[in-house]
This record gives sequence, structure tokens and C-alpha cells, in this order.
Amino acid sequence: MHYLDHNATSPLRPESLSAVTHALAVGGNPSSIHAKGRAARLGVEEAREKVAGLVRARADTVIFTSGATESNNLALFGAVEGSLAEGETRITRVFVSAIEHSSVLATADRLAERFPWVRVVRLAVTADGVIDLEGLRVALREGKGRALVAVMAANNETGVVQPIAEVSRLVREAAGLLLVDAVPAAGKIDLDFSLCDYVVLSAHKLGGPQGVGALVVQEGAPLQPQLVGGGQQKGLRAGCENLSGIAGFGAAAHAAADSEGERARIAHLRDHFEDGLKQAIPETVVFGMNAPRLCSTSSFAIPGLAAETALIGLDLDGVMMSSGSTCSSGKVSISHVLAAMGVEEKLAACALRASFGWSSTMEDVNAALRSLIKLRERNRGPQKQAKEVAA
Ligand code: PMP
Repeated sequence: MHYLDHNATSPLRPESLSAVTHALAVGGNPSSIHAKGRAARLGVEEAREKVAGLVRARADTVIFTSGATESNNLALFGAVEGSLAEGETRITRVFVSAIEHSSVLATADRLAERFPWVRVVRLAVTADGVIDLEGLRVALREGKGRALVAVMAANNETGVVQPIAEVSRLVREAAGLLLVDAVPAAGKIDLDFSLCDYVVLSAHKLGGPQGVGALVVQEGAPLQPQLVGGGQQKGLRAGCENLSGIAGFGAAAHAAADSEGERARIAHLRDHFEDGLKQAIPETVVFGMNAPRLCSTSSFAIPGLAAETALIGLDLDGVMMSSGSTCSSGKVSISHVLAAMGVEEKLAACALRASFGWSSTMEDVNAALRSLIKLRERNRGPQKQAKEVAA
């Protein structure tokens, strides 16, 4: 089996698995004051330190959630609702880059429905998938009230890294707030929380378990809790903490943050993959090629080889990847990320994503190359025959 789909979910790191099983065996409610409760609390707080380390934040700024989807919902709804009492400076404008994850885009749309005075605008990206900074600068100039801007640290489909320092400067100049979804970028590039107001993380993209994530919030940034009940996590996210998930998240964050060597190894695999593909199939298009990209992600298309056909063929060869399109109820829709980059529909329908991580090997890469080359040859067969018949 050759798993090249780390951006969908990364296999559990051994360190994380042992932290999960240990926490499950120990148990305890971190809110209890007895010894077992205190031990559980210690586990949560140790993990909080490690997760904070991913973005150079203070541990007490980390709120654990059920994943990045919840974190994005909490940040967007929480910021807008939390600013309601601010009168003149309440949030009236929400700018989201057009390539954000659906948990940002759909939540922003929901915000506009629920708070009619909030204007939601999607910000354009360049052909290489980088946010259009001039567009952001102009957008920030218009309108009254505070702006909330959501730009991801790097895109999950293309791996294109966004210029967060420049975005942050523009947002700060306009006295706005900045939400950065750092899900695919965490552990792959250095992230600086001091540039942001809200940062979103997910454990399972780093080799931690699924169903656990975090929202890192700058002190003083508006945040209305969305889950109320007990007073856990300073009342910002009620509910008994997911002890084992959080322990696994901490262990994965620690391993990923301390992974210079791992990043270089992954970058080498990604480069070997793209070089091999371009050499064997020169018409291959790599998306976001001219922009800085994460070491882990390759978004590409082999013109004429439909993504769905390729994925089935790859799977039969034991190679697992993703397509850049989604198929729901039999209807294939093109990736909103590639559409925002202006990629032509016909080419976008051939888009595939190989994503590499801690467990990827050169053998995985070579298996993927062999399979793709074979599929392209097989696919060219009928095309060539059709041409000969036509001639
Ligand atoms: N943001 C990005 C950029 C993602 O890639 C994902 C996962 N595909 C999410 C948010 C949602 O993460 P989770 O699965 O933890 O809810």
C-alpha cells in the first residue's frame, strides 16, 4: 500500500498512538480535584504547551476543540458575536480568500445570513493561487466598522504558501482582525502567532488522531463561546476535554514541530515525484509551480487523463491519492481552489493531489510514478486509435 494522501489525513504517528493509549488507560476528568483528575489535567496542560509550540504561542491561548471545522466556526461566529457590544468597532465586514477550506467559506456564508449587517466578500487569488494583496488592501479601505480577514497559511489542495506577514501588516494597518487556518501548514513551515488574532489547527493532519483540533486566540480578541455548558477551558468551549485526543495531538505536535530533517526528506520526495512525472510525461501541469509551496503537497494534472479514472487505476495499483474535484451524487464538480486560480475546467477535471508526510517513502513515490505512467499510456491508446480511424 502506498499512501500519498497526508493532506486528507496523516497516519497516526507512533508517539501519538502511545500517548492516546496511555491517556485512555489512565482516564480521569481534568475538572476533578482529586489525584486522578489532577493527573488528567496535567496531561491536558502538557499537550497545550506542545500545541502552542507549533505556532510559537503561549499555552494559555490554546482552546482545544473537536477539530479545525469547529475551530473555524468558533473563530468566525465567536469573533462576530463577541464584537457585537463594541458599537462603532463591531465586525461589519468579513473578507475570506476564495481558496479557503469549506469550513471557512460555508461559515462565512452562514454569518452573512445570520447577521445581515455583516458583508462577506471573497478575495481573489492570482493564477499561482496566492492571495491578491492589492485586492485585500482596497477591500480593507472600504466601509465602516471592523474587518475580519481569513487567509489560510497554506492551501490544502495546492500547498501554495500565503504571504501571512504582508496580509497581517495590511490587516493591522486597518485595525482589523486576522484568522489564519494553519491546518496543512502546521509542522511544515514556521508559523508566527504574533502576526495573527486567531489560528486554527487540526491534529490529524500532523499525525495525531482525528476529531481534535485547536483555536489559538490572541488575548483581547473578541470571542463569544459557541458551546456553552460547563466552565471548561475558561468557559470558552464547554465540555469535558477529549483527554486521549488531546494527548495524541500534543505528541504529534511535538514530533512535527521538531522535524527539520523530516521536512527536508519530504521535500526531496515531492521533488523526486514532480521531476519524475515531468520527465516521463512532459505535458504534466503542476499547479502553483511559481509560488512558494509546502514541501508536502503536489497538485498536478496530466491533460486527457481524467482524475476519476486515474484515482481508480492508482487504487488498483495500491497507490492512494486525492483528486482536485469532488464527486457528489454522481456529479463531478471542479475544485473551487483551481477555479479561483483560473484553471480551465477541462484541465481541472484532471487534477490530482499527491501529499506526502512523515511515513512517506521513496518506494511510495516510485510506485505512484510507475502507476501514473502506465495509466497515461493506457489512456493514450484509445485516443491514438481514434485519431488513426479519423485519418
Ligand atoms: N481547514 C483545512 C485547510 C483543512 O484542510 C481541513 C481538513 N480537510 C479543515 C480545515 C477541517 O479539519 P477537521 O477535519 O479537523 O475538521
